[in-house]
Amino acid sequence: MDFRFSPEEEAFRQEVAALLEREVPAEYRRKRMTFFDMSAQHDWIQVHRYIAERLGEKGWLSLHWPEEYGGRGLSPFYRLILREELARYHSPGYDSIGCGIVAPAILLKGSEEQKNQYLPGIAAGKVMWCETLSEPNHGSDLAAAEVFAKEETDCFVVNGQKIWTTNGHFADWNALIARTDRAANPNYRGLTFFLLDMKTPGITVNPIVNMAGHHEFNEVFFEDVRIPKENIVGGLNKGFYVVMSLLDYERTTDTVYAIAGTYINDLAEYARQNNLFTPVLENKLAQLRADCEVSRLLHYRVAWMQSKGMVPNYESAMSKLYSFELHQRVSEFGMDLAGQYSQLVEGSPRVPMFGRIPSCYLRSFGYSLEQGTSEIDRDVIAQRGLGLPRLR
Ligand SMILES: Cc1cc2nc3c(=O)[nH]c(=O)nc-3n(C[C@H](O)[C@H](O)[C@H](O)COP(=O)(O)OP(=O)(O)OC[C@H]3O[C@@H](n4cnc5c(N)ncnc54)[C@H](O)[C@@H]3O)c2cc1C
Repeated sequence: MDFRFSPEEEAFRQEVAALLEREVPAEYRRKRMTFFDMSAQHDWIQVHRYIAERLGEKGWLSLHWPEEYGGRGLSPFYRLILREELARYHSPGYDSIGCGIVAPAILLKGSEEQKNQYLPGIAAGKVMWCETLSEPNHGSDLAAAEVFAKEETDCFVVNGQKIWTTNGHFADWNALIARTDRAANPNYRGLTFFLLDMKTPGITVNPIVNMAGHHEFNEVFFEDVRIPKENIVGGLNKGFYVVMSLLDYERTTDTVYAIAGTYINDLAEYARQNNLFTPVLENKLAQLRADCEVSRLLHYRVAWMQSKGMVPNYESAMSKLYSFELHQRVSEFGMDLAGQYSQLVEGSPRVPMFGRIPSCYLRSFGYSLEQGTSEIDRDVIAQRGLGLPRLR
């Protein structure tokens, strides 16, 4: 077994690091910002868009796409290297919804016109996306979605409410799942996947502030929102199949293990500077560092499967579950390490690590829900990985 990257991949890593060294604002690197601390930085979205465009100019957001759509047909390891370096430099700039969900949906299920229309904006880092799947009464049970799109001559007219829409307040475009057939049996056969311009009249985006105090997601209301028929991906009433084929991509989040690894290194540095070590803390830190390696290898396995043209399924559920729960454990460890100082927030004179410790901890609870809950991941692993019976 050879875990080394090729010389070309190593050279790519150096190139990415050199660009980030130049472009990531010094303040972000000093404070070691991540996406999860972004509400504290009012310029987060400007920095995100600026770096995204720099990555886009290099063609780095589409390296593993087929060549006919502007990619270079390289292995998914290039995307993984890019995201590891972004994590290492605490840099925004990777639109995980546009690059990680919408582009694969269009590449897999979109028409030629859609590929030509939407992929260049994602590859250039100029068009930012959100996805509206969840509704107030339906999250895990996507098949029961109720937001309705009524067919008219040249368009569909959408009414209803979505919730937890990450980046809905920044996004230019939206990947929307809506019901187009109320009588469908089973109900998942009545859903359609639409691409929706967020400037379309009738869309209202209201902020939801999470318990860490960040404005990261939103509720989105649709009132007579008209979507042209050519914006359907994968066919009328076939939206559920589009989303199902995407979930394995979404679970391949490539980044959380890298962010957890960076954070554990930062906590070790903080402990060293403040002479905080006890045998128990050292032991825990070492265990978490080892867990970061396990998480990294689970992700590499998924990237390797993709590079061989295989579709990871329970394997991506495993890597997502493990890395998100690992980040929760690392975040909790930060609270133990800093003791009572862990409650201080940015602005307090004695706050450790610019207030990242409570911010990471409070944000980490959402990991058990986003991109499919931990319970659903465990069900996928039990049923498809271990062949156990379906009990719910
Ligand atoms: C930080 C964050 C960002 C998010 N961003 C987005 C976004 O951008 N777009 C979007 O559309 N959504 C987004 N979501 C919503 C997320 O996808 C949903 O929260 C998730 O799908 C769970 O749905 P729910 O909240 O309705 O919980 P429910 O589905 O009501 O589940 C409640 C509990 O029951 C368990 N449960 C439900 N069904 C089963 C089952 N069949 N087997 C076992 N256990 C089950 C769940 O695991 C959970 O513990 C985000 C959520 C968070 C926390």
